Amino acid sequence: MKKLFFCLTFSVWLFGFSYDVKPLKVENGVYCIFGEPGAPDTKNNGNIVNSCYIELEDGILAIDTGPTYIYAKEAATAVEKEFGKKITLVINTHYHNDHLGGNAYYRERKIKIIGDAKIKEAYERIPERFSSYEMAVSKEAWGKSVVTLPDEYIDKNITIKAKQGELTVFKPSKKAHTAADIAIYYPSAKIVIAGDIAYSQMIVPIRDGSVKGSMEALREIGKLEFTHIIGGHGKTIGRESYDFALSYMTKLRNGVKSALDKGVELDGITKAVDMSEFKNAALWDENPKNIIVAFQEMEME
Ligand SMILES: [Zn+2]
Repeated sequence: MKKLFFCLTFSVWLFGFSYDVKPLKVENGVYCIFGEPGAPDTKNNGNIVNSCYIELEDGILAIDTGPTYIYAKEAATAVEKEFGKKITLVINTHYHNDHLGGNAYYRERKIKIIGDAKIKEAYERIPERFSSYEMAVSKEAWGKSVVTLPDEYIDKNITIKAKQGELTVFKPSKKAHTAADIAIYYPSAKIVIAGDIAYSQMIVPIRDGSVKGSMEALREIGKLEFTHIIGGHGKTIGRESYDFALSYMTKLRNGVKSALDKGVELDGITKAVDMSEFKNAALWDENPKNIIVAFQEMEME
C-alpha cells in the first residue's frame, strides 16, 4: 500500500494533474468537450462545463475556456491535434468561473479573447464570481490559473469568417443567465453554442440572471434554424438543452405566477411551486433558490 501511494504521488508529481478531456466531433468543423453536470468539487475539479471549438480558415475559434488553466491547456492541445491547426481566437459566453477560468492559458499564448462589454461591469461589482473556483477545486487543478478578463469587449453582434461560411456572435437578450451572455450561431453546421442560456441534465443557478430574460433569449434562439444546440452544461448535442432550459424556465415562471395570484408570500413560495419533474437533474438543490429569484423578479413586475 505504501508503495502504491508512493507510485501515485510520484506520477502526479511527474506528469502533473490531468482532466483527460476528449473532444467530440459534433459536426464537420465543430468539436466540443462535455463535462459531467454537477457542482464543482475537488473530484471533478470544475470539469462540469462544456466548451466548443470551430474551425476557421486559418485557425480555430475556442468558445469558453473551462474552469482552469490546465483544462484550457489540455483542451487546446487535444483540439489542435484534431484540426491540425492552432487556436487563434477565444470567446467567453459569460463571466462565470467555469466558462472563463482557463483564460490565463490563452493570454499566455497572446491569443485574443472576446467577451460581452458587461463582463467588465460584473467584475467590478461581483469579482468573487470570477475566482470562486480557487476554493472549489484542488490545488493541483487550480495550478497556474489566474483571473483573466477578455482583451476585447463587444456590445453589438459581430460576424466571424469560419471554414464553411460566416458565424454570428450575438446577444439574444439584455439579461438571460447573466447580463453578459453571448451566443454563437453557425448556420452552415446548423449549430448554436448557447453558453448557459441553454443547458440539460442540470439545474443552473439564476442568481445573476432573469427568468423573463432567459425565456426571451430562448425564444430569440428558437427563431434560428438549427439541429444542434450545445448548452453550457449537459451532455446533449440535439435540441435537448434548448427544450430543457425553456421548459424549466416556463414552468418556473408559470408556477410562481399562479402562487402570486393566490397570494403566496416569500416564506411559502418554495413549497407552493411544484418543479418535481426536474428532480432527477444535477444541482436539484439549486431549485428552491431559483424559485426565490423568480419570485423576487416577478413581484416587481
Ligand atoms: Zn456554467
